Amino acid sequence: MNPAPQSGAAPALRPDDHPATTAYIGLGANLGDAAAALGAAARAIHALPGTRVLRASSLYRSAPVDATGPDYHNAVVAVRTALAPQALLSALQAIEAAAGRERPYRNAPRTLDLDILFFGEQAIDTATLTVPHPRLRERAFVLLPLAEIAPRQVHPDWLAAVQDQRIEKLATVWCEGL
Ligand code: ATP
Ligand code: CA
Ligand code: CA
Repeated sequence: MNPAPQSGAAPALRPDDHPATTAYIGLGANLGDAAAALGAAARAIHALPGTRVLRASSLYRSAPVDATGPDYHNAVVAVRTALAPQALLSALQAIEAAAGRERPYRNAPRTLDLDILFFGEQAIDTATLTVPHPRLRERAFVLLPLAEIAPRQVHPDWLAAVQDQRIEKLATVWCEGL
């Protein structure tokens, strides 16, 4: 029989416990009321188990990259989460699905896209999840909002390399209620 834990000892971690990590999530949409979809998504992320939105970037409007269709609305949020990376991805995909996300073809217009940009310092490369996001350096619509809330995550050379991409910061309040 195991001895009783001493008074004041830290409780044993359950197997599903995961240390809290700061992660960055990119949000995008270019169908329907994109600003409203991004705001609803940020609130849904804030309501995930063990998860809090710490900071949110401004809202941006950007031209589609490698795609046609309406301009995108984009933003980035920083979260603190106790979820494991794959659990966070699954939760984000459920939020996308609830927003009516469909994937008829690659880079199709979408009601909501939620990408994990960074998950702490972790490098992840599985069939379903690659972190840091492999294309984040190519995208002004990721780098500009990310640089606003996490300047140390964005090298100035990366920003210089995307300066020809059309993007503007909007004054719209998009994630009130967090
Ligand atoms: P891109 O990844 O170039 O931004 P996309 O966002 O349009 O393209 P999706 O159709 O939303 O691509 O996702 C395709 C798959 O990418 C998802 O099913 C998911 O398993 C995988 N994936 C890999 N790494 C990530 C990540 N860091 N964040 C979100 N999804 C990821
Ligand atoms: Ca994406
Ligand atoms: Ca995606």
